[in-house]
Amino acid sequence: MGGPMGRPVAEFGCAKCYGEDERAVWGRQREGFEHEAEVLDGSRFAVNLRRCRECSQKFVWIFTAVVDWMGGDDAQYVTIMPVTADEAAGLTTGTLRPHDLGALGRGRRHLNHDWPTGGPARLHWRSGRFLVTQGR
Ligand SMILES: [Zn+2]
Repeated sequence: MGGPMGRPVAEFGCAKCYGEDERAVWGRQREGFEHEAEVLDGSRFAVNLRRCRECSQKFVWIFTAVVDWMGGDDAQYVTIMPVTADEAAGLTTGTLRPHDLGALGRGRRHLNHDWPTGGPARLHWRSGRFLVTQGR
């Protein structure tokens, strides 16, 4: 079943958690979201579920670090993507694996915060499949 007038079937979030302004969305990660569940907790690869305090939209938060053994300036990557209630439940029960999240990025906007070794950090919305890799 398609949405009315060809609008996307699934719409996510509110202006505060999924608005155009990526800096505003990134800036309220700490106080604007409720931590819901830890899916994977590692120092180089972590996945958790968060919920917007404004509209209750659930988001998956994926953190990957690539250790810079020589310089100690680890590259850090964060991807924040809205998920449906079913997907969130699948992540907590294990029926949806963190590595499968990348495929959900197809046609679904997600916020990327990339901080490569040597910087500078970049923040941008992106759409399309993405690769979920364990940190090194
Ligand atoms: Zn929201």
